[in-house]
Amino acid sequence: MYQRILVAVDGSAPSDRALREALRLAGDQGAALRAVHVVDFGVLLASWSDAALLDIERLEDSLRESGAAILEAARSSVEDASVPLETVLLETDAGDPARAILDEAQRWGADLIVMGTHGRRGLTHLLLGSVAEGVVHASWLPILLLRGADRRRTAF
Ligand code: AMP
Repeated sequence: MYQRILVAVDGSAPSDRALREALRLAGDQGAALRAVHVVDFGVLLASWSDAALLDIERLEDSLRESGAAILEAARSSVEDASVPLETVLLETDAGDPARAILDEAQRWGADLIVMGTHGRRGLTHLLLGSVAEGVVHASWLPILLLRGADRRRTAF
Protein backbone atom coordinates (compact mmCIF):
# COMPACT_ATOMS: atom_id res chain seq x y z
CA MET A 1 0.00 0.00 0.00
CA TYR A 2 2.72 2.47 0.93
CA GLN A 3 5.67 2.90 -1.40
CA ARG A 4 7.59 5.83 0.06
CA ILE A 5 7.63 6.40 3.78
CA LEU A 6 9.15 9.58 5.15
CA VAL A 7 10.07 9.63 8.83
CA ALA A 8 10.92 12.92 10.58
CA VAL A 9 13.60 12.50 13.25
CA ASP A 10 14.92 14.79 15.95
CA GLY A 11 16.77 12.37 18.22
CA SER A 12 14.03 12.29 20.89
CA ALA A 13 12.48 9.11 22.32
CA PRO A 14 9.19 9.52 20.38
CA SER A 15 11.15 10.13 17.20
CA ASP A 16 13.20 6.94 17.81
CA ARG A 17 9.97 5.06 18.23
CA ALA A 18 8.62 6.62 15.02
CA LEU A 19 11.76 5.46 13.21
CA ARG A 20 11.36 1.87 14.44
CA GLU A 21 7.68 1.83 13.44
CA ALA A 22 8.46 3.32 10.03
CA LEU A 23 11.13 0.66 9.54
CA ARG A 24 8.69 -2.11 10.44
CA LEU A 25 6.07 -0.70 8.06
CA ALA A 26 8.56 -0.24 5.25
CA GLY A 27 9.68 -3.87 5.70
CA ASP A 28 6.09 -5.13 5.65
CA GLN A 29 5.11 -3.07 2.64
CA GLY A 30 8.31 -3.26 0.63
CA ALA A 31 8.43 0.56 0.76
CA ALA A 32 11.41 2.88 0.47
CA LEU A 33 12.27 4.64 3.73
CA ARG A 34 13.72 8.13 4.07
CA ALA A 35 14.60 9.83 7.36
CA VAL A 36 14.80 13.61 7.38
CA HIS A 37 16.01 16.08 9.95
CA VAL A 38 15.47 19.81 9.62
CA VAL A 39 18.12 22.21 10.81
CA ASP A 40 16.20 25.34 11.60
CA PHE A 41 18.26 28.52 11.53
CA GLY A 42 15.09 30.45 12.36
CA VAL A 43 15.93 29.96 16.02
CA LEU A 44 18.94 32.24 15.56
CA LEU A 45 16.78 34.99 14.15
CA ALA A 46 14.36 35.02 17.06
CA SER A 47 13.41 38.56 17.95
CA TRP A 48 15.16 38.54 21.32
CA SER A 49 18.47 37.36 19.86
CA ASP A 50 20.87 40.21 19.49
CA ALA A 51 22.55 39.15 16.28
CA ALA A 52 25.43 41.52 16.95
CA LEU A 53 26.40 39.45 19.99
CA LEU A 54 26.26 36.10 18.21
CA ASP A 55 28.76 34.38 15.98
CA ILE A 56 26.07 33.34 13.52
CA GLU A 57 28.35 31.29 11.29
CA ARG A 58 29.62 29.24 14.20
CA LEU A 59 26.14 28.70 15.53
CA GLU A 60 24.92 27.61 12.10
CA ASP A 61 27.80 25.15 11.82
CA SER A 62 27.05 23.72 15.22
CA LEU A 63 23.33 23.35 14.37
CA ARG A 64 24.34 21.58 11.14
CA GLU A 65 26.70 19.28 13.02
CA SER A 66 24.10 18.30 15.57
CA GLY A 67 21.57 17.70 12.77
CA ALA A 68 24.04 15.45 10.97
CA ALA A 69 24.73 13.59 14.24
CA ILE A 70 20.99 12.97 14.71
CA LEU A 71 20.78 11.42 11.23
CA GLU A 72 23.94 9.39 11.81
CA ALA A 73 22.51 8.02 15.06
CA ALA A 74 19.28 7.13 13.23
CA ARG A 75 21.29 5.33 10.53
CA SER A 76 23.38 3.35 12.96
CA SER A 77 20.37 2.42 15.11
CA VAL A 78 18.82 0.57 12.15
CA GLU A 79 21.90 -0.69 10.33
CA ASP A 80 21.08 -4.32 11.09
CA ALA A 81 17.62 -4.03 9.52
CA SER A 82 16.88 -5.40 6.07
CA VAL A 83 15.35 -2.11 4.89
CA PRO A 84 17.87 0.46 3.67
CA LEU A 85 17.49 3.88 5.28
CA GLU A 86 18.19 6.99 3.24
CA THR A 87 18.84 10.13 5.23
CA VAL A 88 18.43 13.76 4.19
CA LEU A 89 19.49 16.82 6.15
CA LEU A 90 17.22 19.76 5.37
CA GLU A 91 17.84 23.39 6.20
CA THR A 92 15.43 26.24 6.67
CA ASP A 93 15.67 29.74 8.00
CA ALA A 94 11.94 30.27 7.95
CA GLY A 95 11.42 29.03 11.52
CA ASP A 96 9.05 26.40 10.19
CA PRO A 97 10.48 22.85 10.22
CA ALA A 98 6.98 21.46 9.56
CA ARG A 99 6.89 23.26 6.20
CA ALA A 100 10.37 21.90 5.33
CA ILE A 101 9.20 18.34 6.13
CA LEU A 102 6.07 18.75 4.00
CA ASP A 103 8.02 20.26 1.08
CA GLU A 104 10.45 17.33 1.17
CA ALA A 105 7.56 14.85 1.34
CA GLN A 106 6.11 16.42 -1.79
CA ARG A 107 9.45 16.59 -3.65
CA TRP A 108 10.21 12.94 -2.92
CA GLY A 109 6.63 11.75 -3.54
CA ALA A 110 6.12 10.31 -0.04
CA ASP A 111 2.80 8.61 0.58
CA LEU A 112 3.08 8.44 4.39
CA ILE A 113 4.74 10.63 7.01
CA VAL A 114 5.74 9.09 10.34
CA MET A 115 6.75 11.18 13.34
CA GLY A 116 6.67 11.40 17.14
CA THR A 117 4.05 13.33 19.05
CA HIS A 118 6.70 15.16 21.02
CA GLY A 119 10.24 16.06 20.24
CA ARG A 120 13.15 17.86 21.74
CA ARG A 121 12.35 20.42 24.33
CA GLY A 122 14.20 23.56 25.21
CA LEU A 123 14.94 26.65 23.25
CA THR A 124 13.93 25.56 19.77
CA HIS A 125 10.64 24.15 20.96
CA LEU A 126 9.90 27.17 23.08
CA LEU A 127 10.39 29.47 20.14
CA LEU A 128 8.96 27.45 17.32
CA GLY A 129 6.20 25.37 18.85
CA SER A 130 5.13 21.93 17.83
CA VAL A 131 6.49 20.48 14.62
CA ALA A 132 4.01 17.59 14.77
CA GLU A 133 1.10 20.01 15.04
CA GLY A 134 2.37 22.04 12.10
CA VAL A 135 2.63 18.94 9.92
CA VAL A 136 -0.77 17.60 10.97
CA HIS A 137 -2.47 20.91 10.24
CA ALA A 138 -0.98 21.42 6.81
CA SER A 139 -0.50 17.90 5.44
CA TRP A 140 -2.44 16.40 2.58
CA LEU A 141 -0.79 13.03 3.29
CA PRO A 142 -1.64 10.38 5.85
CA ILE A 143 0.40 10.81 9.03
CA LEU A 144 1.33 8.22 11.64
CA LEU A 145 2.10 9.75 15.05
CA LEU A 146 3.92 7.81 17.79
CA ARG A 147 4.12 8.72 21.44
CA GLY A 148 7.34 7.98 23.27
CA ALA A 149 7.71 4.90 25.46
CA ASP A 150 5.22 4.81 28.30
CA ARG A 151 7.30 5.54 31.41
CA ARG A 152 4.76 3.82 33.70
CA ARG A 153 5.64 0.53 32.04
CA THR A 154 9.37 0.90 32.38
CA ALA A 155 9.40 2.29 35.94
CA PHE A 156 9.72 -1.09 37.61
P1 AMP B 1 7.29 18.41 18.37
O1 AMP B 1 5.89 18.49 17.85
O2 AMP B 1 8.11 19.61 18.04
O3 AMP B 1 7.31 18.07 19.83
O4 AMP B 1 8.00 17.21 17.59
C1 AMP B 1 7.28 16.04 17.30
C2 AMP B 1 8.00 15.21 16.28
O5 AMP B 1 8.31 15.99 15.13
C3 AMP B 1 9.35 14.59 16.72
O6 AMP B 1 9.14 13.40 17.48
C4 AMP B 1 9.95 14.30 15.36
O7 AMP B 1 9.36 13.13 14.79
C5 AMP B 1 9.51 15.51 14.53
N1 AMP B 1 10.48 16.63 14.55
C6 AMP B 1 10.58 17.63 15.47
N2 AMP B 1 11.57 18.47 15.14
C7 AMP B 1 12.10 18.01 13.98
C8 AMP B 1 13.16 18.44 13.13
N3 AMP B 1 13.87 19.54 13.39
N4 AMP B 1 13.44 17.71 12.03
C9 AMP B 1 12.72 16.60 11.74
N5 AMP B 1 11.71 16.15 12.50
C10 AMP B 1 11.40 16.84 13.61
